[in-house]
Amino acid sequence: MAAALIDGRVMSAAIKAEVRLGAEALARTRGITPGLAFILVGDDPGSEVYVRSKGKACEEMGFRSVTERRPATLAERDLLGMIAAFNADPSIHGILVQLPLPGHINEQRVIEAIDYRKDVDGFHPVNVGRLSLGLPCFRPCTPAGILEMLARSGNDPGGKHVVVVGRSNIVGKPVASMLVQKQPGANAVVTVVHTGAREIAPYVRQGDVVVAAMGRPRAITGAMLKPGAVVIDVGMNRIPDPSTKTGTRLVGDVDFDSAKEVASAITPVPGGVGLMTIAMLMRNTLLAAKGEAFN
Ligand code: NAP
Repeated sequence: MAAALIDGRVMSAAIKAEVRLGAEALARTRGITPGLAFILVGDDPGSEVYVRSKGKACEEMGFRSVTERRPATLAERDLLGMIAAFNADPSIHGILVQLPLPGHINEQRVIEAIDYRKDVDGFHPVNVGRLSLGLPCFRPCTPAGILEMLARSGNDPGGKHVVVVGRSNIVGKPVASMLVQKQPGANAVVTVVHTGAREIAPYVRQGDVVVAAMGRPRAITGAMLKPGAVVIDVGMNRIPDPSTKTGTRLVGDVDFDSAKEVASAITPVPGGVGLMTIAMLMRNTLLAAKGEAFN
């Protein structure tokens, strides 16, 4: 049986339409235009693509965005100075420093330098702490997009066993932290799998919902899944493919073709979680501009 497609294109378009309406109302009623600052250090082509697509999304939303590009040789203190200026600028509601940063810059110090009230990525320890306490905060965009996809596709994780593969600070840990909350749209029983596990298959097979966030192309196959599982593929891996113009292709952490025969619902790559991440960033920026993230 072929799984239903959990379509990130349709869902992210719906969220962006909601955000756009919210931004229009904010401009009309309070004269505020949401402002997002991007800081890009170095010339990583992947980061450049991400920043450009986030800037384009800002335009679509009617937001103002500012992009500051600096060479990889930028001194950490200069980066901290740029962040301090954006922290103090009332027209900027969200600050996003594109990661990864060059090796000589301490990423954690940079994250902590951002005013947590402008931390629309949700990486600041205040937001991470509030997230794990179940308090209102900026929720990190990829995990928030995953919960939104489950809710909007009618796959409430409440009472289900969710197996998260990966424990990074940007995906695995926060998605587990959100799913385990005693809150609507969450309330799941959560297992987090990582390289400390001798094998992932025995865990994955127990998942009513599987969230794959390991960065390993097509590592999770249909044979590993419980029949009827809901599969959320976060992976974005570029693999060689001589049949394409660029010679590469984007694939997820799940082997889509075999998984779709076993799962009841599945997200595609591309066209899945990645689009939701940008939509949730737009939603966080609107929340920041409204001053409502901590209400
Ligand atoms: P990451 O920081 O590299 O973390 C990967 C995690 O997976 C680690 O916790 C690692 O375990 C675990 N892992 C790796 N190989 C494993 C294996 N064979 N068995 C068990 N666990 C394994 O990656 P990330 O930043 O979380 O990203 C994960 C994937 O999602 C990447 O493909 C990335 O490009 C993609 N991504 C997509 C979006 C989006 O918007 N769609 C956003 C962020 C990331 P250890 O901790 O033990 O090393």
